Amino acid sequence: MADTARRGESTMPLKTQLMRPAMDVLYYTGTYRLFKPAFGGVGAIFMLHHVRPADRRGPFSPNRILEVTPEFLEETIQWVLAQNYQIVTLDEAQRRLVEKDFQRRFVCFTLDDGYLDNYLHALPVFLKYRAPFTVYIHTGLPDGTAVLWWWLLEEIVRDNDAIAIRLRDREVLFPTDSLHRKTRAYNRIYWALRSMPPAVQRASVEAMLDRYPIDPAAFCRSTAMSWDRIAELAGGGLATLGAHTISHSALSWLSPEEIRREAAQSRALIAERTGAPVRHFAYPYGDSASASRREFKIIRDLGFATATTTRKGVLFSEHARHLEALPRVTLHGSYQHLRYIELYLSGAPVALWRGFQRLDVG
Ligand SMILES: [Zn+2]
Repeated sequence: MADTARRGESTMPLKTQLMRPAMDVLYYTGTYRLFKPAFGGVGAIFMLHHVRPADRRGPFSPNRILEVTPEFLEETIQWVLAQNYQIVTLDEAQRRLVEKDFQRRFVCFTLDDGYLDNYLHALPVFLKYRAPFTVYIHTGLPDGTAVLWWWLLEEIVRDNDAIAIRLRDREVLFPTDSLHRKTRAYNRIYWALRSMPPAVQRASVEAMLDRYPIDPAAFCRSTAMSWDRIAELAGGGLATLGAHTISHSALSWLSPEEIRREAAQSRALIAERTGAPVRHFAYPYGDSASASRREFKIIRDLGFATATTTRKGVLFSEHARHLEALPRVTLHGSYQHLRYIELYLSGAPVALWRGFQRLDVG
């Protein structure tokens, strides 16, 4: 386990590598505790993607940041309970924010996209502690239409010693015959694809899959939770379902009509397939380049009770006026240690990065 984690670190983005010593100084000097009264907030929303046992994919695994082990999820639940946090639903978090009911600090667990491992490996842990959680469903997953290109790209880079890829109108050749070169190529291609408009991105990914054949539909089927299992989750009493669009496009590229269609249709489809009410939304990608003021207003006007971003931070009482732009705390695959949870819930790292601004909602 430790060996896998250590090898995994070598493919971490440089920014992540540089952040770790600063976080450790904050933690081990105890400085972070000084921040808690002003920056610890009233609660927090955890964000997860995959929950599954550590595997032996080897040193090149750039998407490992998106997965935590069931053991780490369990440790986190035990820790927050021991620290006297209450684990609540998003509905309850919304109520507490609106009614200013802050007698006890609270956390919510949210899982993005709707992966099969959520059902297989996260659900048993949540059941053991009767801990409520939310899964935001990207409907392309159970429908089998999602192209999980960041995973497909990882496979292609892992399996090849050189990659030729068309990025916009240029053919680029990347040598990928060492861990360092694979990491560099992955990051270059990943960010090039991430910064493209959805249609251009789709065309680039399709061209890549023509050249390096991986069946995206088969990959999607093996990775996604089926509608039956999603309905079973919803009927089990612990899980809340949220919407996460149909195509998982960065909303900032879409017209207002397209955003409304993506959000409203995914909400209607999840409700129709599961019988569960859908009151919450998570922005695809969720960073400030993918969702900001225009997108927040559209989602609020559609009547969602809350919407979560991937902007970092805990919840403050002021978020009652910004329920469509809630920050989250990531359970990060490269930071699977409780000291990072403790640090983030103190509010210290985000307060420092953001120049002591409590809110980031613009
Ligand atoms: Zn997502």
